[in-house]
Amino acid sequence: MQYSLPKLEFDYKALEPHIDALTMEIHYSKHHQTYVDNLNKVLAQYPELANKPLPDLLKNLNRLELPEADKTALRNHAGGHLNHSFFWQIMGPKKQIDSQLTREIENKYHSLGDFRDAFAAAALSHFGSGWTWLVRGATGELNIYSTPNQNSPYLTGDTPLIGLDVWEHAYYLKYQNRRADYIQAWWLVLKLL
Ligand code: MN
Repeated sequence: MQYSLPKLEFDYKALEPHIDALTMEIHYSKHHQTYVDNLNKVLAQYPELANKPLPDLLKNLNRLELPEADKTALRNHAGGHLNHSFFWQIMGPKKQIDSQLTREIENKYHSLGDFRDAFAAAALSHFGSGWTWLVRGATGELNIYSTPNQNSPYLTGDTPLIGLDVWEHAYYLKYQNRRADYIQAWWLVLKLL
């Protein structure tokens, strides 16, 4: 099985002015495509892994008997493909509020505003490239944390509910070093809340 870019449900310019069209185009058609290509390259050596769902593959990565370099390649590129596919799904020009998730967030974090503050603080304080997540843990609890590089929450058995790409490639053209401004703008294109 060969992986490919998922269809984008909106135009590159649909998230303007919050996420600019050129960033969307490069992010989707170049950065994401590279993760897909490199994922296919490493899986071509392991046909027995090629049909496993990527979340399962990542969850069990440390138990696989592969050279460390190939485990790293899978962590980076299976993670990169999953993370970006998820990111495109949760953003859009129109809100599609998830009221169940909203209620759960309000129960745990007191209010959506307090949740946004906690999530933004995690995203802002993450050093270097990576992602900030709201996840559901194995026992159902919600949790906010950041991961480096393309590390997926599935690596530790968690399920992503919300994820924000804080690599500079996600915002540098429009926001340069102003990650805080990017985070604030991103809430406006996150469909779920
Ligand atoms: Mn990215």
